[in-house]
Amino acid sequence: MTLTLTDETPAAGFERLIRVEAPEAGLRALICIHSTVLGPAAGGCRMWDYPSWEAAREDVQRLAEGMTSKNAMADLGLGGGKSVILGDAGKDKSPEMFRAFGQAIEALNGRYYTAEDVGISPDDMAQVATETGYAVGLEGGRYGSGDPSPFTAEGVFQCMRVGAAHVFGSDDLGGRRVLVQGLGHVGYALAEKLHAAGARLLVTDINNEALARAVRDLGAENIAPEAVFAQQMDIFAPCALGAVLNDETVPKLTAKLVCGAANNQLAHPGIATSLRQRGIRYLPDYVVNAGGIISVAGEIHKAGPGYRQERLSGIAARIEAMLKRADDEGRSTTEIAGDMVKEILDAAKRNVA
Ligand code: NAD
Repeated sequence: MTLTLTDETPAAGFERLIRVEAPEAGLRALICIHSTVLGPAAGGCRMWDYPSWEAAREDVQRLAEGMTSKNAMADLGLGGGKSVILGDAGKDKSPEMFRAFGQAIEALNGRYYTAEDVGISPDDMAQVATETGYAVGLEGGRYGSGDPSPFTAEGVFQCMRVGAAHVFGSDDLGGRRVLVQGLGHVGYALAEKLHAAGARLLVTDINNEALARAVRDLGAENIAPEAVFAQQMDIFAPCALGAVLNDETVPKLTAKLVCGAANNQLAHPGIATSLRQRGIRYLPDYVVNAGGIISVAGEIHKAGPGYRQERLSGIAARIEAMLKRADDEGRSTTEIAGDMVKEILDAAKRNVA
């Protein structure tokens, strides 16, 4: 089998962009290393039917840069990277493809760790891991971290409590009306924690089974997906889709706090300002939902049991500092988070110099 790795010229500020091709294995992929200032790059592998190499390049770079910020804020000693496999996850997969991808990862000598992302299952990653020690998010084994969702839910919950203390003057979620949008792996686990904390749960999903379970087992109120922004609520927890906070929804939102797991909740950067102007505190998604990568980082560092809990408390502390600074400086939490990432990276660069 022929496997070729070709260095391409990445966008300014990125370290490497590598095109990977193994025609006999049906593999076409890109690996992007945005930054290794804080340590080896880490970020998942996504399989998606991109219309062109160009579309894949754009996506992998955007995602890799996001991982630098997420990993920096979670204090993982890891830089940012991401990979994408071009293809239809429903029909183009093969064990040979993932083994060839594993060989490509191995050829980078530990500069990049990969894990599951959209379109990639633990079984696929297990194939990748037959060829490289730099595939993580594995099930089983001494350090295998398995499903990251419980950690993601715990991180969101801890950040929500910090947000509640800031906004409502108490971190007690008892009696607070919290709307959880999306009762999937993360959303349901979060709803369970909220129920245990005595919150008044409102839930929505397009999957009736998860909804019925939450109504039956957690005493939640069932809200139709299209009625979410018509509800009275204290806290909104988006755990389904991106871009739910947009020019249409923000003017209607009654919550005073937004804290959820979904990636890319803001439809565009100006939404951070719209939320702030309406007096709604938004806890940046990539900080709040870092529990998943924290779980994976535990596997990379072969860390003991305390590691993940410490890092989860760390993101909550980061949120606390961010909220205070946003108030002191009269700016959005999104802007402050961006500054914090830059400060962390600049400090690391100074230490190296
Ligand atoms: P999931 O696929 O298990 O759950 C998503 C849920 O949202 C499903 O139950 C789905 O039916 C529901 N949904 C889809 N469209 C909806 C709509 N219009 N209205 C209401 N509900 C809808 O995914 P997950 O692993 O729970 O992740 C949830 C979000 O958090 C995603 O955006 C994901 O990228 C992000 N995230 C997850 C993790 C993790 O550890 N799983 C880590 C970081 C970020």
